Amino acid sequence: MYINGEMVPGLSGRTIKSDDPFKGEPWAVVPDGNNADVDAAVAAARQAFDSGPWSRMTAMERARLLRKLGDIIARDAEELARCECRDNGKLYREMLGQWQYLPEWFYYYAGMGDKLQGSTIPSDRPNFFIYTRHEPIGVVGAVTPWNSPGLLLIFKLAAGLAAGCTFVVKPSEFTSVSTLELAKRLEEAGFPPGVFNVVTGQGSIGAHLVEHPDIDKIAFTGATETGKRIAASAAKNLTRVSLELGGKSPNVIFDDADIEVAVNGAIAGIFGATGQTCMAGSRLLVQKNIYDRVVEHLVKRTQTIKLGDPMAESTELGPVANEPQFAKVMEYIDIAKAEGATCAYGGQRDPELGGNFIQPTIFTGVHNGMRIAQEEVFGPILAVIPFENEEEAIAIANDTRFGLAAAVWTQNVHRAHRVAHQLNAGTVWINAYRVVSYAAPFGGFKESGLGRENGVEAIKEFTETKSVFVELSGEVRDPFRLG
Ligand code: NAD
Repeated sequence: MYINGEMVPGLSGRTIKSDDPFKGEPWAVVPDGNNADVDAAVAAARQAFDSGPWSRMTAMERARLLRKLGDIIARDAEELARCECRDNGKLYREMLGQWQYLPEWFYYYAGMGDKLQGSTIPSDRPNFFIYTRHEPIGVVGAVTPWNSPGLLLIFKLAAGLAAGCTFVVKPSEFTSVSTLELAKRLEEAGFPPGVFNVVTGQGSIGAHLVEHPDIDKIAFTGATETGKRIAASAAKNLTRVSLELGGKSPNVIFDDADIEVAVNGAIAGIFGATGQTCMAGSRLLVQKNIYDRVVEHLVKRTQTIKLGDPMAESTELGPVANEPQFAKVMEYIDIAKAEGATCAYGGQRDPELGGNFIQPTIFTGVHNGMRIAQEEVFGPILAVIPFENEEEAIAIANDTRFGLAAAVWTQNVHRAHRVAHQLNAGTVWINAYRVVSYAAPFGGFKESGLGRENGVEAIKEFTETKSVFVELSGEVRDPFRLG
């Protein structure tokens, strides 16, 4: 673990083996932390925030460190990508693309910390001068999942550090290595001890972190059910929370779409990252008059998807990241079959590769009431749903408890924007899928989350606003009147 600028073993001495899902064997060992480790990390982050050198740095000084960190990550992108590839089995080229892009988050927010300007408020009283300050919120507990550990942490970290916060991070017990590697890079960049701390271990220490009275904000990415538990326990101390949760995102193809481009987008939406992304386009809504044509194209392309070693350049689909997730995906295949959906392609563990490899799977004849259309699977399983017209497409798309992302495929510019405005989702793509940017706010409507990451507004989530009233006259005033 990384606490107060030092790599330390866990106090319990217990460890967790981190499996390589492609090889099916452990490749790393990390400490299995306990509550006392969390307490030590929070104490270090608290001290760094309240009185360490970090607390006295200007935003411009913090920006220099952020830019340096960005440069170091750019230099080490290949190594960091290899770590994640071994930890979660996602394609090396996907993880490399992420790590090569992530330095931009630090450059972007480095330029923002010193622009967190307060305002002078036109006072309603002649004897008062009023201004506001945006102060860092304090110690942030970041809890992250296994699917893109670096990316989903940096979504929080870059904005939070720019604002002046300190961090205690609890990565997923399945994928802790890249977060520990990131800690070494923060040290190299010159971040003072205690600004960034990592405790590794099970969900129970995440729960302890959430309830810790010295934590000012929890920034969580993970499952919706975990997010609800976190919101409930954070409420005990009124700890601020931002939650990036699950999805069941609709990918809507209209009959005026370019079918080849749209089918390619459907593949990217559900089979990219083996479907293990919060924004997976797991419901494909297709207009009835092109339904058969789309399914035919989809199956044809899916048949050619190459499963295999995530490190190989030619591989398109890697294994499912871990055993519990594998079991969950297989269970949903059974559920879909039992519900009467038709398996148009796939539907089983890959017979050649075995292990955690599941064939890319397409279910047709799905209606939106089925569990396969309502519950997040987080795997390479697509539910294809027909619709008659625009009105019905929007109704089906919005008939879900989630609201993370959605896409519209059409060549009609009026329809494209009209539909995009009516979809209840935090991100809508038009003729594209699975695109994110440090500059664009990301987050969910409904049960897909609370708050936004990325973009200008995200940095505000790491600040508190303070109003300062300055009395100008120096006169003795009536103490028993307001103001
Ligand atoms: P998870 O909720 O099981 O675990 C996420 C993290 O929370 C892990 O570090 C885990 O140890 C910790 N945790 C578990 N119980 C906890 C508790 N009671 N208190 C505090 N921490 C606890 O999620 P996962 O299986 O690792 O990841 C998959 C889920 O993440 C999917 O539902 C997916 O949609 C979601 N996700 C969302 C986004 C997004 O940005 N919206 C991105 C990626 C993944």
